[in-house]
Amino acid sequence: MFIISSKTMLRKAQREGYAVPAFNIHNLETLQVVVETAAELRSPLIVAGTPGTFCYAGVSNIVAIAGELAKSWNHPLAIHLDHHEKREDIEQKVAAGVRSVMIDGSHLPFADNIALVKNVVDYCHRYDVSVEAELGRLGGQEDDLSVDEKDALYTHPQQAREFVAGTGIDSLAIAIGTAHGLYTAEPRLDFQRLAEIRQHVDIPLVLHGASGLPTGDIQRAISLGICKVNVATELKIAFSDALKTYLSEHPKANDPRHYMVPAKAAMKAVVRKVIADCGCEGKL
Ligand SMILES: [Zn+2]
Repeated sequence: MFIISSKTMLRKAQREGYAVPAFNIHNLETLQVVVETAAELRSPLIVAGTPGTFCYAGVSNIVAIAGELAKSWNHPLAIHLDHHEKREDIEQKVAAGVRSVMIDGSHLPFADNIALVKNVVDYCHRYDVSVEAELGRLGGQEDDLSVDEKDALYTHPQQAREFVAGTGIDSLAIAIGTAHGLYTAEPRLDFQRLAEIRQHVDIPLVLHGASGLPTGDIQRAISLGICKVNVATELKIAFSDALKTYLSEHPKANDPRHYMVPAKAAMKAVVRKVIADCGCEGKL
């Protein structure tokens, strides 16, 4: 009962005009940081893992640890499958207790994307599992694209309506100029397109690639309909930079109970900042 779907929390965010953060986690320590911080700030929480993360840490291990942390903090949360591409893989993780899924067919032609996503939605909704899918492509640096290139890669508002109607998804990830990883140049988001998508689609919208986005951009995106903000890279960098600094200053350190402390504190500061940017403190 502490591992929930993200459907209700995203609908509430949509009604009340804030976003729920999805933090990518990898192990015990990163799970501890996000659950503890969200609990302290009474923020709704989605913990996310890519197929690679679940492969590394083990899906039952992540479900067990997240479930115990949620229980001990009395803080229900969603464990979310980030960028999963195969129905069999999703079925196995739903059986392990996951209740929030992204099926990513954004690399496929439009009709094939719809068919794949609809198939996964039909399965997931039997188990009260919420489903996110993506239309459009996130790239590397996309801010110098021509209008034609943007139309090819970015989410098309009219297609978004067709996609939602044809699949029955619970939330839609859109491409409006964000990229995964860190930005090497100032990103320029297509807010006009986001506003048009919002007019065509009434389900919660998801922004991937929020690491390093200016607070003003995140808040403007939320005001135009974004209800879920994904953060991964920024957390990894804060954690590993603090760890590297500590180990270089304490070359004899060998106890994870000591050297993980500054890494967790640095990651926690990023989690707090994202929760503030999302306007979701106290919204559990
Ligand atoms: Zn993503």
